[in-house]
Amino acid sequence: MTTKIGSTVLGYPRIGPNRELKRALESYWASRSGAEDLREVARRLRVDTWRTLQDAGLDSVPGNTFSYYDQVLDTAVTFGAVPPRYTELGLNPLDTYFAMARGVDSTPPLEMTKWFDTNYHYLVPEIGPDTRFSLSDRTPVRLFQEAADLGVTTRPVLVGPLTFLLLSKSAEGAPESFHPLDKLDELLTAYAELLGELKRAGAEWVQLDEPAFAADRSQTELDALRAAYRKLGELEGRPNLLVAGYFGDLGDALDVLASAPVDALGVDLVAGSSTVDKLPTLSGLRNKTLVAGLVDGRNIWRTDLDKALTTGATLLGLAGEVAVSTSCSLLHVPYDVEAEERIDPQVKSWLAFAVQKVREVVVLGRALREGRDAVADELAAAAAVADRAKADRVRNNHVRARLQSLRPEHSRRSDYALRREAQEKSLRLPPLPTTTIGSFPQTTDVRKARAELRNGTIDEAAYEQRMRDEIQRVIELQEGLGLDVLVHGEPERNDMVQYFSELMEGFVSTHKGWVQSYGSRCVRPPILFGDVSRPDPMTVEWATYAQKLTDKPVKGMLTGPVTILAWSFVRDDQPLADTAGQVALAIRDEVRDLESAGIRVVQVDEPALRELLPLRSVRHEEYLDWAVESFRLATSGVADSTQIHTHLCYSEFGDVINAIVALDADVTSIEAARSRMEVLADLNAVGFARGVGPGVYDIHSPRVPETEEVTALLRAALEAVPAQRLWVNPDCGLKTRGYTEVEAALKNVVSATAAVRPTL
Ligand code: GLN
Ligand code: ZN
Repeated sequence: MTTKIGSTVLGYPRIGPNRELKRALESYWASRSGAEDLREVARRLRVDTWRTLQDAGLDSVPGNTFSYYDQVLDTAVTFGAVPPRYTELGLNPLDTYFAMARGVDSTPPLEMTKWFDTNYHYLVPEIGPDTRFSLSDRTPVRLFQEAADLGVTTRPVLVGPLTFLLLSKSAEGAPESFHPLDKLDELLTAYAELLGELKRAGAEWVQLDEPAFAADRSQTELDALRAAYRKLGELEGRPNLLVAGYFGDLGDALDVLASAPVDALGVDLVAGSSTVDKLPTLSGLRNKTLVAGLVDGRNIWRTDLDKALTTGATLLGLAGEVAVSTSCSLLHVPYDVEAEERIDPQVKSWLAFAVQKVREVVVLGRALREGRDAVADELAAAAAVADRAKADRVRNNHVRARLQSLRPEHSRRSDYALRREAQEKSLRLPPLPTTTIGSFPQTTDVRKARAELRNGTIDEAAYEQRMRDEIQRVIELQEGLGLDVLVHGEPERNDMVQYFSELMEGFVSTHKGWVQSYGSRCVRPPILFGDVSRPDPMTVEWATYAQKLTDKPVKGMLTGPVTILAWSFVRDDQPLADTAGQVALAIRDEVRDLESAGIRVVQVDEPALRELLPLRSVRHEEYLDWAVESFRLATSGVADSTQIHTHLCYSEFGDVINAIVALDADVTSIEAARSRMEVLADLNAVGFARGVGPGVYDIHSPRVPETEEVTALLRAALEAVPAQRLWVNPDCGLKTRGYTEVEAALKNVVSATAAVRPTL
């Protein structure tokens, strides 16, 4: 008889409640400790996770959720997709793995990119005709055994074969016509072997994750999905298979999976809430377990248990068993709300992190099985959710009224020609003006000052003095180098979103709410819980201090509304577009205050514009409309003579290219050094006709570009863009670099510009 899934979660955080894995990894990489120490930390984290999940009362505990770096990289290693350049290094398996993740001197790492629309990043496997898939690493089996030895029967979680191949790229040198999906059959053979071994080790269930089908997929890809799960489903001696699709509605894949010969289907009923209506039409579900993702795995709000239960109840009868789960892995939320000692108690009562979400799943599972009365107490406690809905502090009537009263002209500026003329008069810049993206290196001194302020070693006044000293040094450096539009260097900012969230109403910061971004890198997203407003200017003092030190224009530096939303946990009780409008108003006030204080150039960064793009193209237009509108609302409150810049961190715009035109910024800086200015042709193709600063210095590497190299890039840029529109700047902010290299690189950027100017 098949054991039921009952209640489960699709995955769990792995970095450690106190970022133990981060510390262990970084210590190992720095050779401060050995592989054994690292393995021991990893083992303890796994054991803690299994025990936590089992003790919480989950009926099915996910396994293999641990990773030293990334689950997609793990999958590549498991199935032997290690490019030869890494095996040739002759390192042991652990170090080969880290070489793929981080590179070594001679060999760069695999490319890294965003995991769907989350803030997690995975390593992109390289698959070519020569890749030989085979079961090369048996870690999933070993870890199953490790848990079993402790008395926990886990449900190993694997990246599904389709998602794995769809996220891979063709290896260099593969023929044009090759696609990783061509290798599906060979890969399935290796998956089959692993499934067999897991079954023999005692695994009753294995979970295969196929989130790639929450995005648009071709008929060929859907056919491949059908064929793959037929093949795996028909294997002899296999464990029960749970196929989980999440991050949205599965579209046509829902039907494919519901009729596949697998045992359970996991669906995301939070991001893919429209799925609920389709489930009754799927006859294939009747002999399967439906794993209903009712608890949001991506956000940090307590679940409205009553509502979730009502949804859950409508599903009963549609499937052989209805199990309760999270919408996706809990990898994307912090560990435990109880670890937060400083969050306002009322706001805290509204939150659920991983530990709390596991409990919610358990309660929902019991309620579905035994009825509401069995969990009456828990349901009553969920009244905290209702409290959020009527709490005064989430509403700011002034902000709401202001948003209501907006008219189209609030997000329109004058004709570009007029602005251009006014700005030329006001700024008097040379041709090919040089500038930077905002931040200068964050030195240990700067970080130390921030830490000392936090722990009370220095007071506010001493801190501000240290920041002013740093600003002065940055201004002097830029003057010395001969840059044209200067910046204050952003020393006071820990992070471009957190800094602003701490100064606006409607946000709280967590203390230990870390979420893995990639490898050992974690972020601590602010929590946007209520209507947003800006009680006081946020950047004006720093910018004006910098401006007093120089006659050159100093560029004010702000983060745009979309990026603030993308890097925060956002409220789920109103449309994102409304929240964006509120943030936009706060930024708009700041832009105007900067202008009134004499700042003539203001940059509003939107590096996350493309990040929030919905996975399905039918939803792009709606998103881009409000995203663009919020940027324009933030930046349209100024005179023609004030120059608005924006900055984007990528060079392949894809679906957002028209939106970039629509932003209507006077100057847009973008990444371009590595792609050698190709982006300019893309922009020309859609009629972009504003100032543009394609990066001429790749700040992602410590390398200092030679003057000749920059000159060549500028000449290439001038082939595509008239000199009157071209700006000269690095690819991105300089905060992760050191002063020595930055100074040398900027010096070369300025000399290259000087060399090109006379030829115009
Ligand atoms: N102004 C920011 C900086 O220079 C921009 C950072 C970013 O693009 N991610 O650091
Ligand atoms: Zn950038």
